[in-house]
Amino acid sequence: MATIAFIGLGNMGGPMASNLIKAGHEVIGFDLSPAAIDSAKARGIAVAPGAKEAVAQADVVVTMLPSGKHVVGATGGPDGLFAAAKAGTLFIDSSTIDVASARTFHEAAKAAGHASVDAPVSGGVGGAEAATLTFMVGGTDAAFGAAKPLLEAMGKKIVHCGGAGAGQAAKICNNMILGISMIAVSEAFVLGEKLGLSHQALYDVASTSSGQCWSLTTYCPVPGPVPTSPANRDYVPGFAAALMLKDLKLSQEAADTAGAATALGAAATALYTAFAAEGNEGKDFSGIIEWVRTRTDE
Ligand code: NAD
Repeated sequence: MATIAFIGLGNMGGPMASNLIKAGHEVIGFDLSPAAIDSAKARGIAVAPGAKEAVAQADVVVTMLPSGKHVVGATGGPDGLFAAAKAGTLFIDSSTIDVASARTFHEAAKAAGHASVDAPVSGGVGGAEAATLTFMVGGTDAAFGAAKPLLEAMGKKIVHCGGAGAGQAAKICNNMILGISMIAVSEAFVLGEKLGLSHQALYDVASTSSGQCWSLTTYCPVPGPVPTSPANRDYVPGFAAALMLKDLKLSQEAADTAGAATALGAAATALYTAFAAEGNEGKDFSGIIEWVRTRTDE
């Protein structure tokens, strides 16, 4: 069993750290937010007075932070976590961050004599609580092999996507599909409404035809056909529009850097930007159907 420092005990990090404890590991956490520390303590997670104190004795360090600048800022430099950790520590970054920052994270880890993987997740807070997350992992075979048993304590599907940054690349490509497909499904339901088609009829056809996709069959944006979807509870997330927009923006930054043509990814980013700007950041991302409907009526 490993001694694990867990940095970033927010909505995702808190339950993920709990699951490492349930698997028998010793976990020492840290977060900058007093509220996150209080809720971690309520879960039975030991909390260090600072991040450096948490990592000093650790075999493994997991970071679950908001963005690339937080990960690079916390880990790099003379006062960072790479400098504070003992040589040969395994660093697992499970935050969703830009590919360029993920590569910087790996290079700095290697220069400091540590192993590293980028290991972003899908499955949301529910998956973090239930230890059913999917991990998309980038790094060497050796680092992946060392990280895998720990990731299995927090998730049920662990995919080695390739070298440094490949996990982040897989995450943003997947979520670009998700953003585009939710808009496509929403536009189809709104068009169906205009054509006098019932939601159930469109669902029954499309869910068993070539329009079938996760945004339709698991997260259906109209109430009724899929009783567990956020549309049935006034678009309480779920997966908030702000997080969808964050991931779409990351996909567009990566597409610009890599020179990939992503016309629909760019359009989805523009639509979610407008949706979020109208006070909908905290709504589930499937709530964009209400915005599509409003635009249609103009
Ligand atoms: P969150 O804001 O709830 O948690 C992030 C935590 O990091 C906060 O508690 C914050 O205080 C802490 N933090 C920031 N800088 C720090 C530092 N230098 N040292 C210590 N703590 C620091 O966010 P979350 O929902 O837990 O998401 C975390 C990451 O997971 C993000 O990158 C997000 O995009 C990704 N993600 C979230 C979801 C989701 O459904 N919430 C799903 C998949 C991926």
